[in-house]
Amino acid sequence: MGQESSHLVDPDTPPDTLSDRSLRAVAQLIKDGRAKQVVVMTGAGISTAAGIPDFRSPKTGLYHNLARLNLPHPEAVFEIDFFRSNPAPFYLLAKELYPGNFSPTVSHTFITLLAKKGLLRMLFTQNIDCLERAAGVPADRIIEAHGSFATQRCVDCRTPFPDDLMREYVKRGEAPRCTRREACGGLVKPDIVFFGEQLPETFHSNVAVPGLADLVLVMGTSLLVHPFAGLPCRAREGVPRVLFNLERVGDMGTRADDVLVLGDCDSGIRKLADELGWRDELEATWRGIVGEKEAERQLSKSRKEGAVQDELDELDELAGHVADKLGISEGSEGEPDTNIGKQGEGAAGPPHAPSGPPEGSTAGAAAADAAELVDDGPAGPAAVPQGKDERSALGKDQQEPEAEDDDKSALSYEPLKPTTEKPITQTRADAVKAEDEGGGGGNEKPAV
Ligand SMILES: [Zn+2]
Repeated sequence: MGQESSHLVDPDTPPDTLSDRSLRAVAQLIKDGRAKQVVVMTGAGISTAAGIPDFRSPKTGLYHNLARLNLPHPEAVFEIDFFRSNPAPFYLLAKELYPGNFSPTVSHTFITLLAKKGLLRMLFTQNIDCLERAAGVPADRIIEAHGSFATQRCVDCRTPFPDDLMREYVKRGEAPRCTRREACGGLVKPDIVFFGEQLPETFHSNVAVPGLADLVLVMGTSLLVHPFAGLPCRAREGVPRVLFNLERVGDMGTRADDVLVLGDCDSGIRKLADELGWRDELEATWRGIVGEKEAERQLSKSRKEGAVQDELDELDELAGHVADKLGISEGSEGEPDTNIGKQGEGAAGPPHAPSGPPEGSTAGAAAADAAELVDDGPAGPAAVPQGKDERSALGKDQQEPEAEDDDKSALSYEPLKPTTEKPITQTRADAVKAEDEGGGGGNEKPAV
């Protein structure tokens, strides 16, 4: 993960660049023209509100469909060897996840505004849902670290396959075959990174770009999948880094100019837009892209979730009052327990730690750190157990509160993991097992 030895910055330590660690100060930096090379990193969390389903969630039906196909384990759907022998499960999933079935969120749209205003240096995304493109972020500003559904080719001879034909096959849930004249006949696969495959060259050739940033925004990612997870660390010291996520992740919060905005991405982004005076433009642009109906759908979904959270908060408060009256000090114990639980989960999930070759060592360390980190989570709901994240390596990110994980599943298209690490597969399987045994809820998102 992205966390180096993570010690949160002391609250008394003044920032180097910002006037204080707040969104207002971040907005001021932009307004003053001191942040003009913004680098954004995104994960599944920014697509949550779009409704991208978690393929493991029993409620989405995807899981059941996949189960019916006798996968050795859910992630097999994104394993290249399995795909070669049986592409059907992947195409079943692709039919659900194909671009066009979902619409961008306010968070995607904010990135579009950054680009329009000439402030976006580069966007690195782990998502394969193409929602950044759909929101209008220029293609030359997007690094799809785990590939995307935008293009496809033969897995054998690498010959590209036409987009329009692909769309038809995906609509029917069928796997196309290579159309090269010499009758290669190989399977065609979207250019999303499967386990066991290399990250796109564009990722490697742009990996130093975060070092040129004057502001870094990290949105909706658990920063557990390397090498992507190492990107925020590449920002120079003194460059403000803002995290919009349900919980603190990676080494975010360890530098003097780190600002943590914990909660769902869209809410945090709206706050930043308010501080910038961009809110009206943001909402109007977003509605223009997705349409009124979809905008209302996303908003009502988020209101419902917010209401549930409010009720939980009220219950907590009520419980606290009752405990006070009774003279029970349970509060202090309760929290620790939560943390312990989380840590346990983290530990359990052996994230792809086992070492991999290239980034292996980092990943291993990260995994270890991850367990440690967990305790700082926002205590509440949000903290998604890091254990699941490991999967994130595959693809998940968490942007949803544990409680709701099952239902909302964010789809995480994200993760496809870096294939450089062989062990991952193993890990994943282990993780799955661990989770199943541990009764871990739905965190996992598909690797996709
Ligand atoms: Zn071919």
